[in-house]
Amino acid sequence: MTGIDLLITGYPGVSPSNGGMGWSSVGLVRSGERIVLIDTGPFGARDLLRRRLAERGVAPDEVTDIVLTHCHHDHSVNWTMFSRARVHVSRREMEWALQVPHGVGPVPELYVRELASSPATVLLDDESEVLPGIRTEIVPGHTPGSLIVTVDHDGTRTIFLGDAAKNRAELVCHRVDATLDAPLSKDSIARIWTRWEEVPGTTVVPGHDLPMVLRDGGCSYLDTRQTSVQARLSADFDDVTTFDLAEE
Ligand SMILES: [Zn+2]
Repeated sequence: MTGIDLLITGYPGVSPSNGGMGWSSVGLVRSGERIVLIDTGPFGARDLLRRRLAERGVAPDEVTDIVLTHCHHDHSVNWTMFSRARVHVSRREMEWALQVPHGVGPVPELYVRELASSPATVLLDDESEVLPGIRTEIVPGHTPGSLIVTVDHDGTRTIFLGDAAKNRAELVCHRVDATLDAPLSKDSIARIWTRWEEVPGTTVVPGHDLPMVLRDGGCSYLDTRQTSVQARLSADFDDVTTFDLAEE
């Protein structure tokens, strides 16, 4: 894929028996001397993230910038892996995240508190240029300060949607779940479509789905799903069952 490098591809699933998976998209952008992550994934992604970065010759302390689409744990907690990175986050999001009641939603309360007082934190206004070619725009609803991140790179445009649009179904149906404000989310989906159609060939990366482009009037995945779960279900340590979650 040109323009961006997806370190981890999100998955549009939850488990009715075990709760949200939090399998979110993590993007890597190289902009001049800067090495930028768009979101950081959940705790369970740490080893994978380190591995995927190492495959690209990047050590965690070489990451210079992180842009968080929002403060939910499955996108934000791993900012602590990157000791030298500036962490760009919406001012409105931080103000909201700091005052949500503890123990209620998907905000990692203590991580957010730490981030708020960290010298690495850069608070973004509603529309900001984070770095040349990387811009953010506020798209509220899922959370009050959710951002989309537009990356112009080598003549291509990619828009990271965070959870303003978590998956293809939300984009196509203009309906979302897990939003704090459904009408605002609907407006934000409309805004995403405007941005998507603005420049032909634009790729969008939802928070929990594969990257997509507009082709023949519809959304086309740019990638094939390669998600699976491995489980030790028997008493034999070597007996590992693999469940393919890629079916459509
Ligand atoms: Zn998410």
